[in-house]
Amino acid sequence: MDQQELEAYFHSLDRSFFIDNDMKKYAVLDTPLPIGFGQTISQPSLVLEMTNILAPEKDSKVLEIGTGSGFQTALLAKMSAKVYTVERIDELMKKAKVRLAALNFSNIYFKVGDGSKGWLEYAPYDRIMVTAAAGVLPEDLVSQLAIGGRMVIPIGPPNLQELQLVTKTDDGGIQTKTVGMVRFVELKGQYGWDGCC
Ligand code: SAM
Repeated sequence: MDQQELEAYFHSLDRSFFIDNDMKKYAVLDTPLPIGFGQTISQPSLVLEMTNILAPEKDSKVLEIGTGSGFQTALLAKMSAKVYTVERIDELMKKAKVRLAALNFSNIYFKVGDGSKGWLEYAPYDRIMVTAAAGVLPEDLVSQLAIGGRMVIPIGPPNLQELQLVTKTDDGGIQTKTVGMVRFVELKGQYGWDGCC
């Protein structure tokens, strides 16, 4: 899927479909919105930008950490072969699963748990998208990234984070590049703010 097709699909998605509270009426605004449990659906322009930076390909196996509403998951699943998505809040995951099934996706695999540790069973992944802010780069995610793979992850304190693009080189090392400044909810879990910092 090229850039134009991605944008066409992005604009065809009705964000209100991913929101089931009284914030629905604000779905057209380019802003994050509460989805319950202290979590948010991300700002649409940032979802598109992060997807472009991740650059999944049609044969990519993608790991997503932080399913939330499932909005970002839909874009990833449209662009790639398989998406493994992990969410720590069971109620959010259940709703996202129903929405994504209604959109006829059959290439998404769901897990409730601590995504800061990745999903070892299906590793390595060609692409990893993290949509919550980590304190440090989670070691397990780095080790589950394939050679030549790309990971997009916000790293930094709760108020403002560096959006980092992490690439795994042929010798298994990593290169990191800061591609923007963002503000995400905290990544929890072993490599999240409550586990490590
Ligand atoms: N991309 C989502 C969307 O489009 O709706 C928004 C994700 S929201 C900003 C971040 C999500 O990460 C929340 O749903 C939160 O529960 C989840 N999260 C935080 N820490 C997590 C962890 N350790 N494992 C899995 N999910 C986690």
